[in-house]
Amino acid sequence: MTDDNAAKTYECPSPDCSRTFGAIPELTEHINTDHPGEYQREDWPDTPAGRASRRDRASNGDEEE
Ligand SMILES: [Zn+2]
Repeated sequence: MTDDNAAKTYECPSPDCSRTFGAIPELTEHINTDHPGEYQREDWPDTPAGRASRRDRASNGDEEE
């Protein structure tokens, strides 16, 4: 199980955008250019990791099936 991230891509977390990038700096630049301020929205980032982190933040007794 070797995974050296050779094919790792980063998808724009915007719900309205589905562009992908090969490196974090490219994604960051895209966000800063095309989505200025948008990443501060409550529903960002709309990715499995982002949703998991929001679920983690909201897990103060509230259950979400
Ligand atoms: Zn985008």
